[in-house]
Amino acid sequence: MEHTPASRLEWSPGSIDTFTGKVWSTPMSRDPDRPVTVIGVLFEPGARTFWHSHPEGQVLYVATGVGRVGNADGRITEIAAGDVIYTPAGESHWHGASPTSPMMHLSITSGGATVWDKRDVSDQEYSGASEAQ
Ligand code: MN
Repeated sequence: MEHTPASRLEWSPGSIDTFTGKVWSTPMSRDPDRPVTVIGVLFEPGARTFWHSHPEGQVLYVATGVGRVGNADGRITEIAAGDVIYTPAGESHWHGASPTSPMMHLSITSGGATVWDKRDVSDQEYSGASEAQ
């Protein structure tokens, strides 16, 4: 058994090639040969992922704060601590903090690395404004 106190978690900054704004992540699963990967991700207010998908889908568990998620239909959904979001395999989507609150979620995936679309989530997409057009 291994206990890591919160104060000893090691947070690494997210890449500017895959995130907008300030994001940190910390690995929680330990064995790279196991099929499930668990990562804690912390977003500052306004920060979010680029557009991406996951080969075998993704479960997000919101641990703290308030955030939002979006997919190709242009709508955004507010998410908050305790919420669970499931994205099916291959569905393009994004997730991040709300404009005014930080948000930390657990990302639970299997099937290998995230597929990044190399496209950021524009301010219009982040605000949900694209739906109104
Ligand atoms: Mn995702």
